[in-house]
Amino acid sequence: MNTSEFKEIKALLSAPKNIVIIPHKNPDGDAIGSTLALHHYLSGLGHESTVITPNDYPSFLKWIPGESSIVKYDSDTELAVKKIRGADIIFTLDFNHFSRTGNMESVLEHTNTTFIMIDHHQQPDDYATYTYSDVGMSSTCQMIYHFIEKLDDLDKITADVATCIYVGIMTDTGSFRFRSTTSTTHKVIADLIDRGANNTAIHEDIYDNNTYSRLQLQGVALKNLRVLPEYKTAYITLSQKELDDHNFKKGDTEGFVNMGLSVEGILFALIFIENRGENIIKISLRSKGEFSVNEFSRNHFEGGGHHNAAGGKSNLSLSETVEKFISILPSYKNALNS
Ligand code: 5GP
Ligand code: MN
Repeated sequence: MNTSEFKEIKALLSAPKNIVIIPHKNPDGDAIGSTLALHHYLSGLGHESTVITPNDYPSFLKWIPGESSIVKYDSDTELAVKKIRGADIIFTLDFNHFSRTGNMESVLEHTNTTFIMIDHHQQPDDYATYTYSDVGMSSTCQMIYHFIEKLDDLDKITADVATCIYVGIMTDTGSFRFRSTTSTTHKVIADLIDRGANNTAIHEDIYDNNTYSRLQLQGVALKNLRVLPEYKTAYITLSQKELDDHNFKKGDTEGFVNMGLSVEGILFALIFIENRGENIIKISLRSKGEFSVNEFSRNHFEGGGHHNAAGGKSNLSLSETVEKFISILPSYKNALNS
């Protein structure tokens, strides 16, 4: 987005508006952090703003400032649709295509208003009036910081805004370790701490909230880990029964895929999770270096995301999905060993 477009948005926001802010389905730390950060900022400017998520999110996100004001589309559809219909501006955050909002897709497709996309995923769609897309950015939360910076409003970053932004940068960078983490990311983080983000408390609230059953499930995932050294690949499976036996709650498998990536010499890691409710196998993919899991997932598992972190799905059974995956791998042998 160029300077004159930021100026247009600044002008647009100079009078009170009805604003709706929407993240992707199954929102993660970056999705909830970025939408709530923007919500606090816009409320501070005098706008009527509402965050509407397509569905629920993990309990480790349910302390973030403003979280209790979130409207969930799947359980509060009537209110959500009313807000969307009355919106002067709709911000869509942390996703690149309406299909990433699940059941909200058709509502959004049939809504005629000013859309502003802020996102760091590859291949952004062109539905928005204003598209602020930067696929090199660590997180949508970092983009919210730069968005506020471009609008010349850094002094409006309160402790709540700073906390929300910190959450998403921290979770999307794997606590500041993935290669999207730049010196600018660290400068932003330093400024957020100066503006009131309590970094130690945020890390504890997000990561030290394990239930016993979630840790036991992690043990099962580790037992199910398979390593294919000739492809520098490791994968994990979790069946619906294994989830049920461990009192599975949304978010419990977050981060498990990274255990595969921590095996010596492994560059490509996946987790296949059975979801009987949606009748799909949900897949998370991660890589190190040049191997693009965005491409891999687009080509084989109806997904996408980023170069080193993507998601996808399969309509086959769990074992058939793994078989399909294993049968595809030989054609990537060179790419994985180059
Ligand atoms: P995760 O594996 O943590 O669910 O997702 C990793 C990254 O891929 C995130 O940036 C997420 O937004 C994206 N992603 C996850 N699932 C899908 C999907 O089904 N389609 C697309 N296009 N992106 C996905
Ligand atoms: Mn993100």
